[in-house]
Amino acid sequence: MPGVHEFSIAEALATQVLTYAPAEARLRGVEIRVGPLRGLDPEALQMAWEAVTFGTSMAGVVLEVEQLPWSITCSDCGREWTSPVPFVSCICGNQAPSPVGTDELDLLAVTVDETTDEDET
Ligand SMILES: [Zn+2]
Repeated sequence: MPGVHEFSIAEALATQVLTYAPAEARLRGVEIRVGPLRGLDPEALQMAWEAVTFGTSMAGVVLEVEQLPWSITCSDCGREWTSPVPFVSCICGNQAPSPVGTDELDLLAVTVDETTDEDET
């Protein structure tokens, strides 16, 4: 189940999307990018998004979450790589390389349906 954390993010996101979208546009999808420090569970965020948009003009709008990986740096051998999880060991044998993550939450794209009811064919 989504927690308060996910709900507050979904609500803030919904507000943000509404300010971006043209008034008469039919929204189709919303794409966001989330840094790993946010500790967000994408599934929980999906559920929160559906709950927040339910019964609104944004009901049915698909939320796409791109999760950024952690940057791992090994202080022993200097190797750098990215990982979906923060705590990993390095191939050199170091059991505790330093994970570095960002806490960004960016609205990447809002997809709208171009066709309107005003089309006369
Ligand atoms: Zn190493």
